[in-house]
Order: sequence, then C-alpha cells, then structure tokens
Amino acid sequence: MDGSNGKRNGAGKRALVTGGAGFLGSHLCARLLEDGYEVVAMDNLATGSMRNLRPLLGRGLIQFIEQDVVNPDEAQLAGFRADRIFNLACCASPLHYQADPEKTIRTCIDGSLNMLHLARQSGARIFLSSTSEVYGEPEVHPQMESYRGSVSSIGPRACYDEGKRCAEAAFFDYHRVHGTEIKVARIFNTYGPSMQADDGRVVSNLIVQALRNEPMTINGDGSQTRSFCYVDDLIEGIVRLMDSPAEVTGPVNLGNPSEVTVLQLSTRIIELTGSRSKLRHRPMPVDDPTRRCPDITLARQSLGWAPQVSLDEGLRRTIAWFEETLANGHLDLGTDSLLQMEINSGCN
Ligand code: NAD
Repeated sequence: MDGSNGKRNGAGKRALVTGGAGFLGSHLCARLLEDGYEVVAMDNLATGSMRNLRPLLGRGLIQFIEQDVVNPDEAQLAGFRADRIFNLACCASPLHYQADPEKTIRTCIDGSLNMLHLARQSGARIFLSSTSEVYGEPEVHPQMESYRGSVSSIGPRACYDEGKRCAEAAFFDYHRVHGTEIKVARIFNTYGPSMQADDGRVVSNLIVQALRNEPMTINGDGSQTRSFCYVDDLIEGIVRLMDSPAEVTGPVNLGNPSEVTVLQLSTRIIELTGSRSKLRHRPMPVDDPTRRCPDITLARQSLGWAPQVSLDEGLRRTIAWFEETLANGHLDLGTDSLLQMEINSGCN
C-alpha cells in the first residue's frame, strides 16, 4: 500500500470532524492536519476528552467546538462552511452506548440527519462511521458488504446496531434525493493509543488488567473471534475512502481480516507485557457476536487499501502507550468504572 496517498490533499480545505475528541476522531484530526486541512473538531465530550486533542493544538489550524450533534447550535452553525464532514460522533463501547440508549439512538439518527443537512447546506462531502455491528450475529463468514446482517432489534445492543443501520439509510436517502456525496464505512474493531482504559473494550481492558497484574476478564470461554485493526491502518482507510471518486459511496468494510479468538488475544497480551495475570471467565453477554471478520475485497479493489500493521506490532505500540499513560498517573479508574467493567456485558 502506498502510504503517501492523500498526503497534503487537504491544503486549502476545511474538514469538520464530529466526535473529534474521541479515540478515532482525535487520530483522524491529527492525520487531517498533517494532510494540510483546516480542522474543526466538534464533540459533546460524552466519552471524548480534551486530553486527546491537546497535543494537536499548535500543530496546524484546528478549532474545537463543544456541541452535541443531536441539538447543534443553529446560530453557531449558520453559514458554516466545510469541504468535508466526517461524522464520527457516537459512543462506541457497549458500556457507554447502553448507559443511555435513547441518546445513542438520537445520536445515530438525529445526529446523522443534522450533519447531512449541514453537508447539503455547505456542499460538503460527508463520511459516516458505520460499524460491523450492522451485521449482528452473522450467518456468513467473512462478512461482505452485500450481506444484510442478522441484528436483534430488541436486544441491549439494538440502540447502537439499529441506530447505525438507520444512519446508513439516511445517508443513502440523502444521496438519492439530494445528490449529497456520501462515504459510508463499516468499521470493524479498531484499537490503539488513546483508547479509554475503562470503557470495557476488549483490547484496552485486557492490556490495562495485564499491566496491573490483575485478573484478565474473558467473556465466556474466549473462543469468540474478532479481527483487530490498528488505528493508523483504519485512518488511512477512512482518508482513502473520503478521497475516492464520488461514485464510491460504500458501504465499504474497513477492518483487519486476520481473525483471532479472544483467548488468543489475551495470551498474546500476557506474553508481550510479561504479566502475571490469570484469566477470569464470566458469562457471555446477551447478543455478543460469536464471530466477526471482514471481507475487505471491496476496500482492496476500490481504495487500494489493506491493513499493514500486524497484531503483534499494533499491540506493542498500544501497550507502550498504556504503560506510559499509567506511569503518568492518567488512568485512575474510579470505583464506579471498575464496578461497571465487572458487570459490563460486551466487548466491541
Ligand atoms: P469514542 O467513544 O472514543 O468516540 C466517540 C466520540 O463521539 C466521543 O468523543 C464522544 O464524546 C463523541 N460523542 C458521542 N455522542 C455525541 C453527540 N451526541 N454529539 C457530539 N459528540 C458526541 O469511540 P470511537 O472508537 O472513537 O468511535 C468513533 C466512531 O467510530 C463511532 O461512530 C463508532 O460508532 C465508530 N466505530 C468505532 C469502532 C471501533 O472499534 N473503535 C468500530 C466500529 C465503529
């Protein structure tokens, strides 16, 4: 893969990143600044943090606006101009999106409609961070974009899964009805530096527990599979998709097709950290998918994209970041967080 694709493509352009203070959003802001964009990050700081954006201040033209995509301040956005809108706003970990399901549904649906309206008003091309969760508990492996999914509309994950499905519908309707240029990516599990330590996502959870020599929590027997994509690879995929010809609307799977069991992942983390942790199994959460693996043929063909960072390399970089952050005392988990990690019923 030619890593130079997209570099400096942003000179003279303005990009709005909703969810810009979150894990993926802040990495995307960094990349867009490198590419020469003027960047506006919008976030309600529900799960995002200014700590993620602070290192970017002074690196280029970046502005932060604290706003909710569900109820954006119309006065502030009147006459807003952007060439690109990356709509990433939405809490991604089950712990957070299940805490306020109505808000999750509104963020996915009202938030997407509001950003589509803004894209139409400003003539921007707009990206949606959809998810592999639209495939639900898949009956086909690996999952291709043509697979329509097997989602429970009534389970605890439905607010997110169905919310994202509806967001996809809204994007394609805007495209058909108004000719809005849309780009829809179905993102599979992505990990890397700046993940929250205590949001229950499996990679960060296991790394933090391993570094602390605490029991590592495994849902069920750990035979469920996931495919883990390192964040730099994912961001490269997003940038390539946004820069692709207008007729490439997606949905396009972006993820790493090498599938591992959660048990294999935990073993590798123990080896790489030299941890003394033991595994602690707990019941499988409701509707937790048993297999998850992207077919990335479409991304390879239409974007020339494939992940470059191996799981070992990605884990090394992520472990190093968590080690440093722990050493700096930035990962103090409150009792509530620990309790919630204990009862949390999902890994994303
Ligand atoms: P994250 O929770 O770190 O980031 C989400 C950001 O959105 C946070 O900064 C949060 O404060 C903000 N936000 C939430 N609701 C908002 C609202 N109503 N208005 C404004 N801001 C709001 O999660 P992430 O991993 O960075 O995920 C980013 C996007 O990518 C999400 O849309 C998520 O669904 C999608 N995604 C992520 C993954 C993954 O593995 N990380 C996988 C599939 C899809």
